[in-house]
Amino acid sequence: MPPPVFRFAPSPNGYLHLGHAYSAMMNFDLARAAGGRLLLRIEDIDATRCRPEYEAAIYEDLEWLGIAWEPQVRRQSDHLDLYREAVDRLASTGLVFPAFESRAEIARLVADREASGAWPRDPDGAPLYPGQGKQLTADERSALIAAGTPYALRLDMAAAVAQVGELSWHEDGRGPGGETGLVRAQPLDWGDVIIARKETPTSYHLSVVIDDALQAVTHVVRGADLFWSTSVHRLLQTLLGLPAPTYRHHDLIRDAAGRKLSKSDSSTALRQLRADGATPADIRALVGLAASA
Ligand code: GLU
Repeated sequence: MPPPVFRFAPSPNGYLHLGHAYSAMMNFDLARAAGGRLLLRIEDIDATRCRPEYEAAIYEDLEWLGIAWEPQVRRQSDHLDLYREAVDRLASTGLVFPAFESRAEIARLVADREASGAWPRDPDGAPLYPGQGKQLTADERSALIAAGTPYALRLDMAAAVAQVGELSWHEDGRGPGGETGLVRAQPLDWGDVIIARKETPTSYHLSVVIDDALQAVTHVVRGADLFWSTSVHRLLQTLLGLPAPTYRHHDLIRDAAGRKLSKSDSSTALRQLRADGATPADIRALVGLAASA
């Protein structure tokens, strides 16, 4: 049996905080305990928010924590062609459609719908796609594209679910409602998710499943805020013929008021804590991990 493969996959859109330290150290500890490998992936597809100085800080902060990862960091922005190719593959199944509404139009459509009752929201609290993209004829789509109208590509979720049927994943951690063991995926809760954005030929959901498969990741260990995203990940894995890793979603580290930590709050940033004199052992203790061996 090849050794298990774990990964830590931060986005360089701010400095790492205690929550990232917890996730990275948990991956490191689990990989070490299992005689496995730990990979590092930089999830930087959002060119407007990601910055090289934050990427450099990720390496520095992780090294300071004493986390060792295998060389050959994978940087997602280096692989946009690969994601483009996967988008084409999905598009060829007929399950993807162009959605031409701008963000402002989507907000207006949702407000209209909500005027006459609640409009469903996804597990992250964002309204489901309310637009008309699926109703357009092939000619209407071609005309809009030929006219240079920007669009995102979305997955026709109902059609995709009808095609693949019921899906599940193996959860070693726990979901927000205590879900563990074999968990049934609920991709319909997400509506017609974005597969590729106007300005980026991919999306978080698509690039994460492609990279986990390419890097032969066997164990995805990440925060509980991504628990229900796994529904979309299982669906995309199935559509693209990719293997399913085992998942372990861990509790989030919260501030004194019980709020999820944010990259914009410097008080829990690792570099701030380090500047204030904290040691890596202090960080482990702060997040409730046992001292390292
Ligand atoms: N890049 C994501 C984040 O920083 C994590 C993605 C994942 O672990 O699947 O929140």
